[in-house]
Amino acid sequence: MPHDQDIEGDTSDISSEYECLQCGRIVRAETNPGECKECGSGDFQNRAKSVE
Ligand SMILES: [Zn+2]
Repeated sequence: MPHDQDIEGDTSDISSEYECLQCGRIVRAETNPGECKECGSGDFQNRAKSVE
């Protein structure tokens, strides 16, 4: 899977907010970020459930 860097200003509504359970960092991504850039943890929780 592609693992591109975050694109500033991209407000695509297909992305969701993920919260790092270790440091509380909020990351917007289409899929689970996998690894926190702040603390290196891989524990993310999806904050916004998809609305379908
Ligand atoms: Zn973190």
